[in-house]
Amino acid sequence: MGKSCGECGMCCKLLAIQALDKPAGAWCGHFKRAAGCGVYADRPPACRGFICLWLDSEKLDDAWRPDRAKFLMYTEKDGQRLNVIVDPAQPGAWKREPYYRRIKAMSQRAVEGYELVVCIGDRRIVVFPHEDVDLGLVNPEHKLVSGYAQKNGTMVPYAMILSDVAPQAS
Ligand code: SF4
Ligand code: SF4
Repeated sequence: MGKSCGECGMCCKLLAIQALDKPAGAWCGHFKRAAGCGVYADRPPACRGFICLWLDSEKLDDAWRPDRAKFLMYTEKDGQRLNVIVDPAQPGAWKREPYYRRIKAMSQRAVEGYELVVCIGDRRIVVFPHEDVDLGLVNPEHKLVSGYAQKNGTMVPYAMILSDVAPQAS
């Protein structure tokens, strides 16, 4: 049986919606508890098209519903990047179990170029199987790159912000 959002609504808090001038991490003014979106028929395309990973995955049980987990996840870059968007009111939510162990397991694919990025407001943490690289506060429009580099004969994870790359026009 397919999942439904129920009373979740976390994307209406955690995501920035440009069309509404809604910043990330603040509840949308159209969201009403228990009733959901107050402008459902006319909601912007960004809202209409968004499906979080919990909703889309049969492998994530109810504990992962974003209003319970206090973070939502979605993929981009053709599935090569997983964003974990954490409720700034509960910044440590992703480190709790059963979440953290599973997130680390998902990061195993980093060796294939997969990128797993935890976003807490403007803070970015890139998760690797044996290390979490905390980049601190970043300009979200600047490009984040990560992967593995050879160092003294071993593969070492890295993550950095290319701050000299001009922000993309919106
Ligand atoms: S975060 Fe996911 S489950 Fe929650 S309302 Fe948005 S799409 Fe639905
Ligand atoms: S317009 Fe509706 S769907 Fe979009 S963020 Fe606001 S409450 Fe959520």
